[in-house]
Order: sequence, then structure tokens, then C-alpha cells
Amino acid sequence: MRILNYQRMSTEDGPGLRTTLFVKGCPLKCRWCHNPESISFKPLIEWIAVRCIGCKTCVDTCPRKALSAEEDGIKINREVCVACGKCVDECPTVALELKGRETSVDEIFKELVKDAAYFGKDGGVTLSGGEILAQAKEAAELLKKLKERGIGTAVDTCGMTTKENIDLVFPYADIFLYDMKLIDPDEHEKFTGVRNDIIKENFNYLAEKVKGTDKHIWIRTPIIPGATDTDENIRGIARFIKGKYERWEMCAFNNLCRDKYERLYQDWFYSKTELMTAERMDELVMIAKAEGLDEVYRTGATKLK
Ligand code: SF4
Ligand code: SF4
Repeated sequence: MRILNYQRMSTEDGPGLRTTLFVKGCPLKCRWCHNPESISFKPLIEWIAVRCIGCKTCVDTCPRKALSAEEDGIKINREVCVACGKCVDECPTVALELKGRETSVDEIFKELVKDAAYFGKDGGVTLSGGEILAQAKEAAELLKKLKERGIGTAVDTCGMTTKENIDLVFPYADIFLYDMKLIDPDEHEKFTGVRNDIIKENFNYLAEKVKGTDKHIWIRTPIIPGATDTDENIRGIARFIKGKYERWEMCAFNNLCRDKYERLYQDWFYSKTELMTAERMDELVMIAKAEGLDEVYRTGATKLK
């Protein structure tokens, strides 16, 4: 699998205490993406300024001369870098990271079971992205191994996949965290790069499959100022998912990923956007509830008064 990183002791990707595995590559390109390094399917390296001691070992190591030491730190020429990882291996302070390392399912499994001590009755492992179902065959293999070890499993998907991929992971996933960002297809395309017809169709397919099983669907909607935070969007999603989910989480926008965009030398549309207010988040929850929906919650930090 082409993986990005593990997030341990996570409380935001399903019930209980979890370890979340993030993988690389996503069919969507959400304008607000909080893991911009996960969008491309290609591996890449990142330089982390606070860890660098300026020894320039990496510059001397690179066989392609893709690195240079500038006044403000190490610069990566991404046109030239082929993400071979040689500089990453040689850096004495782990200031370079390879994002998208090919890792075997067995190796990932060994890493994940190390955390079993804190999973408890409710927690477990969440496979996230990028888009995990873009690597559905390997994901199914990994989930199967986790279930055989008695570990709870969740799959976090944007829904832009095939029914065959859903079928592959279905037997081994306890919970599906399903993103429902924008209900209007044109708006969806404007903000994520793709229309949502397949996402909606797959959601209905999954909801049918879950019926009569002990599996669950949790919906997640990122609440992004000026994009997903309108009354109409929340009302539209509410009407679409009604009766087909266990829990709906509205996740308030945050700007914690600003430095990730800087590391990729990319401008971020939302770099100066303020957090949502608690009042507006509560209003959106109320709009959903007014449509007759239960189990709707807001998550994430909001603006201090
Ligand atoms: S090898 Fe690591 S510590 Fe040394 S200059 Fe390169 S990134 Fe910085
Ligand atoms: S990953 Fe390979 S090609 Fe890219 S900068 Fe490092 S050594 Fe050079």
C-alpha cells in the first residue's frame, strides 16, 4: 500500500481510541483539503524546518541535484526529484520525510497491532486517506487480518469509488465513515473537482447493504465557510441521508494545515479564513434536526468570543 502516516490515539475517526492509517492518493481535490500531501498518488518528499540542523548531508546525497541549501532552508526542486528517498535515509535528524512509501500489508498490520493495548471495547483501527478505497484490494486484506485479531475496524471514504471496491472491504469493516460534503452536483464539482452522482449512488448502495447487519454508517460533513456551511446544503444532505445512517458529524473548519501547504510551496485558498462560530455550528445542527434527524453532532474547535 502507498501510505502516508499513522495517527495514534485518535479520537476523531470513529468511536473510542483509535489508530488511523492515512494513505496517499485521492480522486477528489477539495479546495479545503487538510491533507494536501495526500491528494497526489505520486510519492513526494517534505522538508520540516524545525528539525533541520543545516548539515547539508541531503544536498550532497541527492544523485539528481534536486536539493539546494538556501538562506531560508532546504529547497526541493519537485520537477527533478523522483522521490527515491535517499536523502530521507541519510538525514540525521529526520527533517526529510517521504510521503507515499510503498509498504506491505504485513508490515502495516505489525505496526497497527502494536497499539491494540489502547483500543479497548470501542476503539480500533481506521483506514483513511487520501482515499482508502483507491487501494481497496490491499485495504480488504489488511482489514481481514485486523478482524481476525479481534480489532475493531472503520473505513473512512469520500465515496468516489466503485461498488466492487465497497464489496471488497464490506465484510471486514465495522463502521463506514462516509463524507457527504455538498449535495448540489455543480457546487460539489466547483469545490472538489468532481460531481457527486457516483458518491450519492454509492451511498445508497452502501446504506442498503448495511441494513440488517451489525455494521454502521457515520456521515461526516466538513463545515467550510462559504462552501458547505449554507442552510440549503445542510437541509439537502439531511433529506438525502435521512433514515440511512447511525451518526452525523458536522466537522468545523480549522486552519491547522496551513504549514502543510507551505511545505508543498502551494497557496491555500483558506489560509486566512476564520474558524466557524459555535452559534453557527449549533444553527446548522438545528437545521438538520428540524428535518427530523437524530444523532447529529458538531465536532472541532470554534472561534473564541
Ligand atoms: S540532511 Fe537533514 S538536517 Fe541536514 S540539511 Fe538536510 S534536511 Fe537538514
Ligand atoms: S528523494 Fe531522491 S531525488 Fe528526491 S531530493 Fe531526495 S535524493 Fe534527491
